[in-house]
Amino acid sequence: MAGVYISWPFCAQKCTYCNFASGVEKPEIQAEYLGALCRHLSFQEWPFTPETIYIGGGTPSLLAPDKLARIVEQIPGYPWREFTMEAAPGSLQPQWVNEWVRLGVNRVSLGVQSFVEKELRQTGRRHSALTVVEDCDLLRQAGIGNFNLDLIAGLPFQTQESWEESLAWIERLQPPHVSVYMLEVDEDSRLGLEILGQGSRYGAGAVASEEAITANYERAALLLEALGTPRYEISNFARPGFRSTHNLKYWRGEPYLGFGVDAHSYDGAMRWGSPEQVSEYIAYVERGAPREIAAEAVRPLEERFLTGLRLDEGLIVDLETLPTTLRTRIETAITHKLLVWNGEYLRFTPRGILVSNEVFEGFLGADDLDS
Ligand code: SF4
Repeated sequence: MAGVYISWPFCAQKCTYCNFASGVEKPEIQAEYLGALCRHLSFQEWPFTPETIYIGGGTPSLLAPDKLARIVEQIPGYPWREFTMEAAPGSLQPQWVNEWVRLGVNRVSLGVQSFVEKELRQTGRRHSALTVVEDCDLLRQAGIGNFNLDLIAGLPFQTQESWEESLAWIERLQPPHVSVYMLEVDEDSRLGLEILGQGSRYGAGAVASEEAITANYERAALLLEALGTPRYEISNFARPGFRSTHNLKYWRGEPYLGFGVDAHSYDGAMRWGSPEQVSEYIAYVERGAPREIAAEAVRPLEERFLTGLRLDEGLIVDLETLPTTLRTRIETAITHKLLVWNGEYLRFTPRGILVSNEVFEGFLGADDLDS
């Protein structure tokens, strides 16, 4: 069954590395956006009962529960199998968390990124390791034992030692789910612009090398495996029973509907999205949120490879039946020990995971992916 994604694109600050459609906005703009979002949801005729909700952004944990209620009361299926709230450490309040639970939230994803003060301050984040400890306690006390902590390998000023410090906190806190992202500096972020201009703000001169980033990622993967939290997707690690049901839908090609800025939808054949700017989104909803503006037919094979291969379980593939260009590229990746095929499942090797973006780019270039 399908999932629903809701975007709440407002934050207390704009982090230096962030290239998401998110930012700091006045309360009036946020109120206008909430109205548009609710209106967009009210247009929706539900062809299915949603199984999961994921509210991300942005920082939806800053959204007051009465406003959250206005959004979720329009989505059928309460209580949903999984309802994830993305949260910034330090933004959790006991009363609000209890309200979230009442509204159906049963999973929280905390954007920790690092436990190290020096790294956090460079990104613009205001929390500390202690804040995260308090948030984890608060969630557990409220009955939300299913939570994720995000980490970024490669933040400015990160060293092997400081990364070990963050990993030691993971070991202490024992979260059931951890996401580890390798920093990709985007030129749309303040950090990216600073690096391009050869400046030194935001720690631009102290971003780790690619080798250090991959080494830190590999170290985290090994530790998490040893802690009983093995990888199940390139960036995601979970204890048994704690994989993200919502995110698995993206990787398994199941349908989902997105609402809010830069939110995407997929019905198994077509993909469409909404505008990236808040003002454009509000105007788009006023026009009736016409799906055809951004709808594009999905190339089925490309879709299968780009999403399914991200999972450790891999993808069932019959190499013999694949179009020639794609098959040749896969065989080359197998020869280079980046992919492995056991006659049934095709999956990344541990080495291939480290260069997965390059491997995916190779697939995108294949001109026979429409099949
Ligand atoms: S990284 Fe998260 S909290 Fe920071 S600006 Fe981007 S969306 Fe907001």
